[in-house]
Amino acid sequence: MSWKWHTRGSLTYLTVPKWQAAGINLGFSTRVGGASLVPYDTLNVGLHVGDDPKAVLENRKRWFDQWGVPWTRVVVGEQVHGTNMIWVNENDGGRGANELETAIPAVDGLITQTSMGLMAFFADCVPLYFYYPDLGAVGIVHAGWKGTANKIGQKALKHFEEAGGCTESAWVAIGPSIGPCCYTVDEKVAVQFRLNYDKTPFLCSQGDGHYLLDLWDANRRLFLEKGVRPENIEVASTCTADNPEWFFSHRRDGARTGRMAGWISRWA
Ligand SMILES: [Zn+2]
Repeated sequence: MSWKWHTRGSLTYLTVPKWQAAGINLGFSTRVGGASLVPYDTLNVGLHVGDDPKAVLENRKRWFDQWGVPWTRVVVGEQVHGTNMIWVNENDGGRGANELETAIPAVDGLITQTSMGLMAFFADCVPLYFYYPDLGAVGIVHAGWKGTANKIGQKALKHFEEAGGCTESAWVAIGPSIGPCCYTVDEKVAVQFRLNYDKTPFLCSQGDGHYLLDLWDANRRLFLEKGVRPENIEVASTCTADNPEWFFSHRRDGARTGRMAGWISRWA
């Protein structure tokens, strides 16, 4: 069991003990333990979904406190379902942590060699976590179907490699997100995968022009193809759409729902 549920104070979240033991704080929040009201109940950390900003900031504070990182050392990007990502450092501390306006524009991935806390937002899309022990670098990436079709996970590996990192010793984690049990897509989505992938065994035809899409498997294949060792890939295999008591789900709840936080920070 690579991923583990953990409760501390009012918060319940998922983490990977192996990463914790290596000095990497990796987390995925649940909807439990926050201040937001229906339909954002209760730990919504997204400022962009129509929730009361006061409640969202209180929720974020609880989440940052849990990791022992002040908001001035947290960095947030504006996610746009693209494949851009960026190296951040001490100068970026606080960007997007308490407001939308200062988030790093148009990036779906954040990487750092510092102890800054990197946070991204999810409600079905796939959180990808990275740790390159040789660089002391960590990263978090937001991979929905578009990002996965466009192989954002492999683009992240390339960023680390360009900085001198060795992918054969890299650690990767695939967090809670919509699973192959619940994620039906149409031909328009399927064709994007067929265009970009040699094989698409993660698309299962339902016979009516619809497919069940396994984003966990698609992302795992991307990492294996580039040389990440299978024993260094931790897949949560936890479906956000199946667990309404724990997770927000865009597919299940529609546009008016909250966001969970994906988090990574290297110990200072
Ligand atoms: Zn499911």
